[in-house]
Amino acid sequence: MSIVLGCPRDCYDTCRLGVYVEGGRISRVVAENDRYTKGVLCPRAAKDVERVYSPLRILYPSINIGGGVFKKIDWGYAIDLLVSRLREVLERYGPKYVLLLEYAGNRGILTRHASRRLWNYLAATQTDRSICNYSGARALKLVYGSTYGVFPDDIEQLNMAIIWGFNPAVSAIHLWRRILGIKERGGQIVTVDVRVTETARQSGSFIKVRPGSDGYLALGIARYLLEHNYIDREFIERYTYGFNELAKHLDKYGLDTVERATGVPRNRIAEFAEMMVHGKPFAIFIGYGLQRRYGGGDIVRSISILPALLGIHRGFYYSNTDGLPLNLAAVEGLDLWPSRNTISMEKVGEELCKGVYKFVYIHLHNPVATLPNANKVAEGLRQEDVFVVVHETHWSDTAKIADMVLPAPTFYEKLDLVYSYLHNMVYLNRPVIDPLGESIGEYQLMCEIVKHIIPDSYAELCPDPYKLFEIAIGKENFERLLNVGFIELKTRPRDEYQTPTRRIELYSTAAEREGLPPLPVPSAGDYCNEGELVLITSAHPLYIHTQFEEIYGSKQSCIYISLEDAERFKLSSGDLVKVWSRRGTAIMVANIDSNISRGIAWTSRQAHTADGRRINVLLDDGVDSYGGAVLNSTCIKIQKIATTDTMEIPTS
Ligand code: SF4
Repeated sequence: MSIVLGCPRDCYDTCRLGVYVEGGRISRVVAENDRYTKGVLCPRAAKDVERVYSPLRILYPSINIGGGVFKKIDWGYAIDLLVSRLREVLERYGPKYVLLLEYAGNRGILTRHASRRLWNYLAATQTDRSICNYSGARALKLVYGSTYGVFPDDIEQLNMAIIWGFNPAVSAIHLWRRILGIKERGGQIVTVDVRVTETARQSGSFIKVRPGSDGYLALGIARYLLEHNYIDREFIERYTYGFNELAKHLDKYGLDTVERATGVPRNRIAEFAEMMVHGKPFAIFIGYGLQRRYGGGDIVRSISILPALLGIHRGFYYSNTDGLPLNLAAVEGLDLWPSRNTISMEKVGEELCKGVYKFVYIHLHNPVATLPNANKVAEGLRQEDVFVVVHETHWSDTAKIADMVLPAPTFYEKLDLVYSYLHNMVYLNRPVIDPLGESIGEYQLMCEIVKHIIPDSYAELCPDPYKLFEIAIGKENFERLLNVGFIELKTRPRDEYQTPTRRIELYSTAAEREGLPPLPVPSAGDYCNEGELVLITSAHPLYIHTQFEEIYGSKQSCIYISLEDAERFKLSSGDLVKVWSRRGTAIMVANIDSNISRGIAWTSRQAHTADGRRINVLLDDGVDSYGGAVLNSTCIKIQKIATTDTMEIPTS
């Protein structure tokens, strides 16, 4: 019989997996046939057995003795050393000089959220966790008060799905299958993107926009709806705030202006608007990559108002976590210890290089490989006077340059509670096998540190994990969960708005107070300088960020460009090219691709360069006015350095 677990990876679908164990070892992982996972196993989970028992697992504590060589140490010595270095920094400099770098390598309540309790208690410096969906989330909160929208079950009621800057055919395969059901029932799927993605190819309609001009397209449609009297006046009157201000603002977004900015012909814009009018009810599935750019917040804000103009409550999907009854703040102890120093996640490299942080604790995160301006991140972590501890499951790029590396279990080896940012199921994960080697979980390790550094606060900082689960989902849900191992949480109503006016704020009063424009003011797009391309990166089906490189190896170093740009820069597929941005230089292999538009270069987020670097060395570490990352606003130059026949990779 299989044991049921929820997948806690940073992935929309949060699948229900069945795990078979023989002789204390996992023998097989299958997809459960529940209404979300539907028996479909993704290529990552299909390789989980191999990944759990990979020779690249970190199994013992070790210290870096120089030259990339690590020496095994015992846990007692590891804890003593870690605690003495941490105590020294706290006493000599204060908690601001301690930096916690963590993200979503595992999103379990215990692993990710509860393990922040010590660092929140100490008021250590943390990042604002803005790398992924920050600007868009802030934009939606301004308009709707929170980010939740349609849940997967709501898709059954839709006549149309608009997939905007999102590639679920690759990054959310189970959600995508649900969306495809709309087409099977005779409805429509329209995709808007800057390149012909896997999702676009399976959609009924595709609208190609210039990078960063999506906000213009949305406001152009809004104006069309207004001019053609399609606005649902009764809904506007009852549920929205600031319609008159918005209507006046839309004067600037006539079809000619929008066509010029977006590259979408005016008749196509009108057709798209008509599809919305006649395709109700619809929902817009808004991607995260879309808002990882300058102007990203205003793009999401502009798009999000379209369903409201046509009388649809929360007619979008972005992230549903805050539509669930979860008390994550209490799990993290933020109700008790709310203040701490915060730095921008995009600026970690720059901040580290200032030499301020003397103790850096890293878990659930591979910042050397996933943050922008990666050269600076590595340089900062390598500084002599910074003590870097990495707690990890596998030898990541970051683990390889740490001072101390500690072994962590995979999700199959530890207790946790797993929720989703897509659906409303919660899974109680009990360990199916013993932790490999000497690995111990993130929360357990945190409590070990607490025991040594602030023993008097142990009871307060380290409650029983089940107590934390009860705090997270409430007593009633918790009791039901214990009986069956998974439960469905009640979702918040879609006609409830948590804005200051309790309405959909087309004109945002909160934005004014926060120094943002009260109405969305999108940019006309990224216009890199003449001779430059905008570099777009997105997900690859085999990986979750850098996880599964242990299995599938390093992603090859191709950079995809359009036919027009290939002619412009005199490039052919297979040519070795030098690519450079204001942040770094890389050597890659050019690939001419008819799915790419002029002015754009695309590569997968995991791409390694031919000279042994990560694509992140090129990525822009700027910050959007809404606070989020601008990775997809990276302007690059590209130049041929060798053809396939004369190829010799220069060392850098
Ligand atoms: S990685 Fe994503 S698609 Fe794969 S099992 Fe986990 S949640 Fe499902």
